[in-house]
Amino acid sequence: MTDLYDYDSLLKRVREALPENIATRERFEIPQAEVIHEGKNTIIRNFMDIVKRVDRDPMHVYKYLMRELGTAGNIQGQRLILKGRVSPSLIQNRIESYIKTYVICYECGSPDTELRKEGRIEILVCKACGAIRPVHAKIDVKIGRTILQEGKVYDLEITDLSRDGDGIAKYDTYTIYVPGTKKGDKVKVQILKIKKNVAFGRVVS
Ligand SMILES: [Zn+2]
Repeated sequence: MTDLYDYDSLLKRVREALPENIATRERFEIPQAEVIHEGKNTIIRNFMDIVKRVDRDPMHVYKYLMRELGTAGNIQGQRLILKGRVSPSLIQNRIESYIKTYVICYECGSPDTELRKEGRIEILVCKACGAIRPVHAKIDVKIGRTILQEGKVYDLEITDLSRDGDGIAKYDTYTIYVPGTKKGDKVKVQILKIKKNVAFGRVVS
């Protein structure tokens, strides 16, 4: 008899449950701007690197920062040169705002999204969960955090069923599989394994 929760079978089920892009995605961390002041200018040394990490058009990020920081500047190679002395913490804050507005999915917290234009409206489409939203709708977005812990017990409501008939609960950005439950059940669940945004648990009461 195979153990339902042995590592290989868990991994197999996680891979089957997820589209390829999430299964292989590394955990997203907000890029830190490397800021230096040179004379009367401020330089973001790793600007193009940040752009690459968030996978957006450099000019889109550039225009946003110019508008938000109220300055002028130009991209030179990897660097963005800003006119005037701008504080590093302000720059970091605006980069985070950009990511929350134009990169992170407001439903699932994934950065695996695409920015599209429909007429004059920009739409953020999530490749992970399929959520779609216009970007100017100001929503306070949570960036995926690890708050679920293996071994701990959580009060969960089963809101869906998997193809295999396991109950599915949602918790923050996690999808939790709980065998032996059905839709509508309110159960105490001990978390046995967590892989990225997917977890497996068992009912303890
Ligand atoms: Zn999503």
